[in-house]
Amino acid sequence: MPQVADLASLQEYDDILAGLTAELEEARADLEDDEALQAAQAAATEADEGCASLEREQRRLEGEIDGLVAKVEREEKRLYDGSVRLPKELEGIQQEVASLRSHLSDIEDTELALLDKLEEAEAAREAAREALAREEAASNEKHERLGVAIAGLEGRIEATTGERETCTGRLPSTLVAQYEDLRRRKGGVAVTHLRAGACTGCRVSVPPSARKRALDPEAPALCPNCERILVGY
Ligand SMILES: [Zn+2]
Repeated sequence: MPQVADLASLQEYDDILAGLTAELEEARADLEDDEALQAAQAAATEADEGCASLEREQRRLEGEIDGLVAKVEREEKRLYDGSVRLPKELEGIQQEVASLRSHLSDIEDTELALLDKLEEAEAAREAAREALAREEAASNEKHERLGVAIAGLEGRIEATTGERETCTGRLPSTLVAQYEDLRRRKGGVAVTHLRAGACTGCRVSVPPSARKRALDPEAPALCPNCERILVGY
C-alpha cells in the first residue's frame, strides 16, 4: 500500500481509537457511579434506625407500665387485705394509688402517641426498603449491561490497535515518528485531505504547487499553512 494511504489509514485508526477510548472511559465512569444506590442504602439504614429507636422507647415504656401496674396492685391489696387498719394510713395508701394511676395514665398516653409514630416509621421503613430493592435491581442491570459494553469496547480497541500496528509496521519509522509528532502538536489530527482546493485541517486554500505535491501517493506532502500531512486524492 502506498505510504500516504497508510498514513491516512493510521489517522483513521487513531480517530476510531480515540472514539472507542472515550466511550470506554464513559462506560467505566458510569459503572463506578453508584450515588443513587448509596443514597437508597443510607435512607434504608436511617429508616431502620428510626424504627429501632422507637421500638426501644416502646419497650422502655412497657417496662415502666408493668412496674406501675404491679405497684398499684400491691398497694390496692394492702387497702383491702386488712393488714392496714389506721384510717390515716389507709388514706395515704389511697392517695398513693390515685397518684400511681394518674402517672400510669400519662405513660399510657405517651405510649399511644409513640405507637402512632412507630406506625409511620414502619411505613417509611417499608418504602425505603422497596426503594433500595429497586435501586439494587437497577444497579445490577446496569453492571450487567455496562460489563457487556465494556468487554465489547475493549475487544474493538484491541483489534483496532492490532490493525494499527500492522499499518505502522509497513511504514518507515521516521515517517511514523513524524506522524506521531504532528498528532501531538496538531490536536490529534496529523493527516488532512484536500477538499475543493482547501485543507480539511485548517480550511485554508492550498496553492496549486502544493496541491500537485499532495497527489503523489509515495511522497507525503505537507499543507503549507498548518503543516499537517496533506493527502490530495
Ligand atoms: Zn492545513
